[in-house]
Amino acid sequence: MATWHDVAELLLPGVDSDIQKLLDKYPQRNCVCTRIAPSPTGYLHFGSLFTALINWKYAKQNNWVFFLRIEDTDQKREVEWAATSLVQSLKKFWIEIDEWPLGENESDKWNYGPYIQSKRADFYKVFIKYLIEKGLAYPCWMSEEELNEIRDQQTKNKQIPGIYGEFSKYRKLNPDEVIAKFHEMWDTFSVIRFRSPADLTKKIIFSDELRWVVSMIDNYNDIVILKWDGLPTYHLAHIVDDTLMRTSLVMRWDEWLTSVPLHLQLFQAFGLTAPRYCHVAPVSKLDEWKKRKLSKRHDPEADVRILFERWYSVQWLIDYILNLASSSFEDRRKENQLADISEFNFELQKMWVAAPLFDEVKLQWINNQYLSAISTEKLFDETLERAEWFDNEFAELLKSNPDYYRAAMNIERHTEKDPKRFTVYPDVKNQILFFDDENWEKWAETRKNLLAENENFSKLQDFVRTYIDEVKLEWVDTLWRFEQLKEIWKRFGYAANNAEFKLWWYIGKVGDLAMFLRIQLCNAKQTPDLFSLMCVMGKDRVVERLSEYL
Ligand code: GLU
Repeated sequence: MATWHDVAELLLPGVDSDIQKLLDKYPQRNCVCTRIAPSPTGYLHFGSLFTALINWKYAKQNNWVFFLRIEDTDQKREVEWAATSLVQSLKKFWIEIDEWPLGENESDKWNYGPYIQSKRADFYKVFIKYLIEKGLAYPCWMSEEELNEIRDQQTKNKQIPGIYGEFSKYRKLNPDEVIAKFHEMWDTFSVIRFRSPADLTKKIIFSDELRWVVSMIDNYNDIVILKWDGLPTYHLAHIVDDTLMRTSLVMRWDEWLTSVPLHLQLFQAFGLTAPRYCHVAPVSKLDEWKKRKLSKRHDPEADVRILFERWYSVQWLIDYILNLASSSFEDRRKENQLADISEFNFELQKMWVAAPLFDEVKLQWINNQYLSAISTEKLFDETLERAEWFDNEFAELLKSNPDYYRAAMNIERHTEKDPKRFTVYPDVKNQILFFDDENWEKWAETRKNLLAENENFSKLQDFVRTYIDEVKLEWVDTLWRFEQLKEIWKRFGYAANNAEFKLWWYIGKVGDLAMFLRIQLCNAKQTPDLFSLMCVMGKDRVVERLSEYL
């Protein structure tokens, strides 16, 4: 009579290790650790950044290890490229990964790899062979058609869907029958299913860091653990990898919460202890008033590159994520706008259970707060850093005269009237580009068109001539103020304010002249404080730009 051991040998010949040997090879770490385990997509998705940041933050504040594992058992893509690009992108967000794919030979630290699942096939086989030897897993040759038929039948009869009990055609076979079937089906691929120890009536209770105690129906399905291509499903890979890599806390999306009963059954089948679990709601967005998970395909803003190209600041994105993740972050941030995030203690129990909403309006508000709070030196440095990534021409411009552009950015900042005019980094560019002479010249046409909108502007030649003379004579950089110029304007018949304009026969009001100056000097109807910006531009430049009008 054949045994399950014979079946295991037949299905997985040549596996020469065992679980204990592997556990000895990858011993307990000196410290606990967290990880992220994304599949290899082409770019960093906001959801992955979110999970990475909370796992990293939690690990680092406790001096733990944080590692990256690439889960490529479903998607055969450019795995190595994806891993490298992920590590680099995370670095931009200050997320330093202690262990990651392709770093294996760089230092002794990388003792728990390989960190790419497709390179771990041998480990999975050892674990699966163990289950078969114990009679806890069995091969299944059910075809796609048979599976569909069962599903239809279950739907029709209002039965609970799945492959369990009587619905699992190969579950009841004994080792002799399995071996006979194996030879009979020699030209058909099989999968390996886990023999679930539970039935439909059993409930279990388990703990979750965020939800405390969770109670649900135990797993009764004979889930596939090894696919026909020889690679494991997520469920088995999770058990094997997080055991051998010695993960202590698995923090993952809550779509996996319903799989916990299965995972606990698997850990138990191997005689292993499960890690702590923390299931986090996925970042979502409102779509026609309905909440749905943020998706790579439908939400371009989920691509972190795009967020970055819009130049949201790194600090801000991190703040935004911590804000989405933790109920206590916002209050801490209000107390101290500029505190380093290392000063914030991230507690799992303070995380939101409901899905956090990705909200672009709030996102802009936070960025505006941040850009308004930082020093102008920092604003300049961060703008330059971003420009060096995305906009080389602008970077060169900033570097050509840093003091000038820093002064341009600084106008009205941190004063009582501070309009907090920068929300995203492109605002900085838009609002200082006209300080550069070449760019100012490029917009001559726009200037002309804007000036043509107001017929009063065509009669300003005399005023501009006198004004230029006065500017030449009376220019005192820091004292150059509105009041001094009202005088000249009055001489030319312009009222100092709206009230006077209504009462007397003035030809126009000072506001019109200010508008003229804005357009002529900056190509725009709205600018930062006119006199401050003239001070930054300096007398010669102001005179030259005004002379163009004559
Ligand atoms: N590859 C899985 C996912 O992206 C990982 C889940 C986990 O963290 O265990 O959902």
